[in-house]
Amino acid sequence: MNLGYLCNIACTHCHVNAGPNRTELMDRATMAQALAVIDHFGIGTLDVTGGSPEMNPEFRWLVGEARARGVHVMDRLNPTIMEEPGYDWVAPFLAEHRVETIASLPCHSKENVDAQRGNGVFEASISALQTLNEYGYGKPDTGLVLNLVYNPVGASLPPPQEALAADYRRLLAAEFGIVFNNLYTIANMPIKRFGAVLLAKGQVDDYMTLLKNSYRRENLNGVMCRDLVSVDYRGYVYDCDFNQMLGLPLGNAEEHTHLADLLKLDEVPRGIAVADHCYGCTAGQGSSCGGALNGA
Ligand code: SF4
Ligand code: SF4
Repeated sequence: MNLGYLCNIACTHCHVNAGPNRTELMDRATMAQALAVIDHFGIGTLDVTGGSPEMNPEFRWLVGEARARGVHVMDRLNPTIMEEPGYDWVAPFLAEHRVETIASLPCHSKENVDAQRGNGVFEASISALQTLNEYGYGKPDTGLVLNLVYNPVGASLPPPQEALAADYRRLLAAEFGIVFNNLYTIANMPIKRFGAVLLAKGQVDDYMTLLKNSYRRENLNGVMCRDLVSVDYRGYVYDCDFNQMLGLPLGNAEEHTHLADLLKLDEVPRGIAVADHCYGCTAGQGSSCGGALNGA
């Protein structure tokens, strides 16, 4: 569920065009409709993203309501938000509500992270991850899960997930004392801000050719649109977050579906709207919100 496009930073690889000047935010009434849909279908997991979802003033209300229903909550956390004034509640709140965290750290090198996300982002991210560790995240036997996300800096596919995870584990532990559960490698989608960066650099065709030449049919079994629906800040529903950004209606329908419409159905429409950007999910080792699909 995308709680809105407001973010404290503006990364070059962002497929949302999120940033500090965006004003679109999901309101409590829409969240309440989403909770009704969760009840209606018996959905077990709420995965929140943005922007920085914690910047939505109703974030804590939503998480509290979902957890009270026994729903597993995942927060796609841009860790630098925890270093902003007024956000020191984030780590204790997430730990208290036993929210699974998926934190973006697109590289273990300061130069690459700052190039992609902005100056100072690496230090802020490291400090925030250390704070999450202090609250028990990523540590054995706490049950508090801290997953990291890697995106390539430019127009290339992510390296093999397992080997990169081993590098992250070794370097982050040795240099910063940071521990985490899993590393997810996610391919950059050639849409929105990253699409514009590709266009500006004249790399659109090369990147699309790379994605298409790396297509692996077996990745189709694991693409995330088979198992989830994505909700925008107004309550409209899509096959995935990328289709949401492109405005492609749920189930390849002609009209958009709203949360209120889902409440009238017994099951979610099964069709999926696909287009060229889907090669971003099916190239190489595959890519999803849970990392590589292991098609390679
Ligand atoms: S990639 Fe994440 S942290 Fe970066 S601008 Fe987009 S939403 Fe914000
Ligand atoms: S981009 Fe295409 S393949 Fe990937 S999750 Fe969305 S609909 Fe499925």
